[in-house]
Amino acid sequence: MSVIIRSWINVPENSDFPIQNLPYGCYVFKNDPHNESVPTICVAIGEYVLDLSVIYNAGLFDHTCLKGTNALNSTNLNDFMSMGKQAWKEARQTITKLLSEDDFTIRNNEELYKLCIIKQTDIKMVLPARIGDYTDFYSSIDHARNVGTMLRGPENALMPNWLHLPVGYHGRASSVVVSSTPIRRPIGQIKIGDNPPILSPCRNLDFELETAFFIGPSTNLGERISIENTDDYIFGMVLMNDWSARDIQTWEYVPLGPFTAKNFATSISPWIIPMEALEPFKTTSIQQNNPEPLPYLLDKSNNSAYDINLEVSIKSINMDNYFTICRSNTKYLYWSMKQQLAHHTITGCNMMSGDLLGSGTISGPTVDSFGSLLEICWKGTKPLILPNGEERKFLNDGDTIRITGYCQGNGYRIGFGECIGTILPAI
Ligand code: MN
Repeated sequence: MSVIIRSWINVPENSDFPIQNLPYGCYVFKNDPHNESVPTICVAIGEYVLDLSVIYNAGLFDHTCLKGTNALNSTNLNDFMSMGKQAWKEARQTITKLLSEDDFTIRNNEELYKLCIIKQTDIKMVLPARIGDYTDFYSSIDHARNVGTMLRGPENALMPNWLHLPVGYHGRASSVVVSSTPIRRPIGQIKIGDNPPILSPCRNLDFELETAFFIGPSTNLGERISIENTDDYIFGMVLMNDWSARDIQTWEYVPLGPFTAKNFATSISPWIIPMEALEPFKTTSIQQNNPEPLPYLLDKSNNSAYDINLEVSIKSINMDNYFTICRSNTKYLYWSMKQQLAHHTITGCNMMSGDLLGSGTISGPTVDSFGSLLEICWKGTKPLILPNGEERKFLNDGDTIRITGYCQGNGYRIGFGECIGTILPAI
């Protein structure tokens, strides 16, 4: 039985951010009338953050390979991500030690303490990385089956390629925004029935419950990442909401896939959960034996899924509290992050530090685990009734969608924080 490590910083029970988590993020001060503060790297601990630039400048990383790099004394995590596993491990060991209950380095240094321990209520989180490229997959078999059934009927629900490769598309990196950024309802081209297409505010605005991972070290053009080596390139995970304009999507997607239906905004949670913190929550992947994937996608470990509980809640402008509309889990994904990355690079496509790769909508096998309104309301045929009697088929202006996630450990939880977005009316 392993001893649970505790921090000298009081961490409330069921906090998302115990010392076992230590997710990375970038913050600015809220109370900054002239917008002078530049983003600073930190980790979350309970209701506080530990400022890593202060720790770096105090020389507390000098015994590690981070010495002299300024990777943690930067405005985003890209340089740190690019350094790879050894640097991530040494940084995490150092941070864990500094925050453990038997360490007095920060506690006994009043000046240092004041500079590096900051209340989360005093800061605002910004995007943790400069995202050069963003790819979104379609890796949940239940989601693909649901959508396929709605479009083509149950016999042809999965396209012939689906069980052979992780389907995906290249998304728009510049419109990835951090949680709490308001989402403007897009306008676009839609076509209703046999009428000619019109330009209209989106009428079928939806969310997609997803997770995503950040790429660590870059690769060169022409280089492949073999499935055995993918772990060296996966830095950590966030929650993601891939906002989707279903009516625009239906008309435009043939034959090249999503375009303006998805390019107006994608929200991510601000905290990147390190893969080391998620390691205890690895679980058996869905069996892939009918058909067995090609050798380059074959994962011999059979242990590449993660048990991350996910929840989606909605709050309209007339509601005081969030109402949960979906409970799902990343373990329902058919294709793992390892397989997604091996497939993405099989052509020699290069990966850059800070690239973001989304899972695709994560639906489970039951109606209460469907990860989009398209599925929950089955293409608008089964309206959702909110506790105050309001009805939804898709999102209204003023609706807020909140995604949360956590892994349940023995006596602690690895939380993801939240990924929130409120819909603003179209202009
Ligand atoms: Mn998506």
